[in-house]
Amino acid sequence: MNSVAIVTGGSRGIGRATALAAAKLGYKVVVGYASNEAAADDVVAAIEASNGKAIAVKCDVGVEADILHLFKEADGFGRLGALVNNAGVVDRTARVDEMSAERLARMMTVNVVGSILCAREAVKRMSRKHGGAGGVIVNLSSVAATLGSPGLYVDYAASKGAIDTFTVGLAREVSAEGIRVNAIRPGLIDTDIHASGGEPGRAQRLAHSVPMQRVGTAEEVANAVVWLMSDEASYVTGTIFDVSGGR
Ligand code: NAP
Repeated sequence: MNSVAIVTGGSRGIGRATALAAAKLGYKVVVGYASNEAAADDVVAAIEASNGKAIAVKCDVGVEADILHLFKEADGFGRLGALVNNAGVVDRTARVDEMSAERLARMMTVNVVGSILCAREAVKRMSRKHGGAGGVIVNLSSVAATLGSPGLYVDYAASKGAIDTFTVGLAREVSAEGIRVNAIRPGLIDTDIHASGGEPGRAQRLAHSVPMQRVGTAEEVANAVVWLMSDEASYVTGTIFDVSGGR
């Protein structure tokens, strides 16, 4: 492989598991993180301990200048072969009639605009139209996009619905230029994201509602992400792939 994979939000959770799995697949990994430098450094150290190559780059995907910096650092590391748009946020449980404009702006800026801006930078580098050698983009959506998350966070669900639509559109836009674009829709996965939404035990509490009767692990999601990043998926684009235990 030997090309570079950028994983936004690669310091914890699904992003961390994806960074480790991408390195195993042979990618040199750029581990993006928002603020937890120690966690990002730990991912880099784990990759290097297995003879892989990785660097950590601070990048809040809600800030365009940070995204430009992330891609500049990646340019110095090698040819970009893959982007995983993993960074994403939830917020406190709330009904729509309780949501502030600030909350909605953050949700859409990080989850939607951030992913589209990262894809823009990736396409500029990967597209054969721009002299690139092709590549792969994987977007992290959520089954929330299909469930709507009423009474929990409809705004988050809507942001992931936008990711699904963006995935289909971008895939069709750049398929002939050598870029495959797909999305993964995780279900209830055991990561810190539930604590950041104010309820650390949320995934376990709802495990009974999953047809498989359990939550998923970050590694189970990462397995699907790296399959889409691999040559095994060479004819797969515009696909939205549920990793949700049947939810
Ligand atoms: P997580 O455990 O909360 O980890 C979030 C990661 O994203 C961290 O590395 C964090 O960096 C980074 N991050 C947060 N805000 C960021 C920002 N503004 N810019 C850049 N990076 C940022 O999350 P996760 O559960 O692994 O979720 C990863 C993705 O999967 C998200 O898109 C999420 O919506 C989606 N997803 C998760 C689940 C689930 O049940 N866990 C289900 C469906 C979809 P720091 O370490 O620096 O804070």
